[in-house]
Amino acid sequence: MCGIGAFQIINNEIEAAKLARVLLRLLEARGTDASGVAWHEGGQTFVQKSNIAGSELARQFKQPIGSTGIVHTRWATQGSPENNDNNHPIDVGGLVGVHNGHISNDNELLAQCENYKRAAKVDSEAVFALLAHASAETTLAQKAEQVRGNAALLWLDSFDESETLHAMRLQSSPLFLGQTKMGSIVLASTKAILLEAAKRCGIEFDFVHEFEEGEYMKLQHGRIADVENMPLPVRMPLFPKHDYSYASKYAAPKNYYY
Ligand code: GLU
Repeated sequence: MCGIGAFQIINNEIEAAKLARVLLRLLEARGTDASGVAWHEGGQTFVQKSNIAGSELARQFKQPIGSTGIVHTRWATQGSPENNDNNHPIDVGGLVGVHNGHISNDNELLAQCENYKRAAKVDSEAVFALLAHASAETTLAQKAEQVRGNAALLWLDSFDESETLHAMRLQSSPLFLGQTKMGSIVLASTKAILLEAAKRCGIEFDFVHEFEEGEYMKLQHGRIADVENMPLPVRMPLFPKHDYSYASKYAAPKNYYY
């Protein structure tokens, strides 16, 4: 039940670092094993993450940052938070992403990425590696269709000068988007967190949208530049069997909800 969030701020309507801190604090309720932020800035992508709770990272997160970014608070399902490579945002060689959910066919997805070497144990790495490194002929929809498990995904492409923010909800894991009149976009795992973040930052949304399962959006300069519906794979159970190879305190509890 990790928490994910993102922002694309227009005309400095909100201070990006402040919004990132607010999201880290609010999303902490969905996972305290680790937290992180990634953002576009001056043609590069920066990542700050650690195996500390969101509110603790928020306290350390003081520097001004770029206006497009993603945020994560982790409730680890696979891959110890003590290895920072397992924590989000995950950089798979330019594509930097955050994931809420659990992927049960991670090895299968990674097998398709011939020129990519797995860096960590976390299941999420596989879906981002697939997005970035599967054969160039494979479309986004064909990639999405192969993912087994639960996923809401947000990602940045380090090589993208237009600072695009990508958002996709596959199965189960929730995702909400709000946009202000000025065009600034904020995303969060739940509507309650999204609205509270807006309140704490002193902004109002012109509309709020709940992503459907299978919905993908490309967000550029505060515009919804593209919307696509991904074909969903066969629905998988919410509790994928997994051979956890790390301390049980990080395993999902019985009533785990993604
Ligand atoms: N499976 C991912 C991880 O272990 C995401 C966790 C979650 O959404 O609960 O980091």
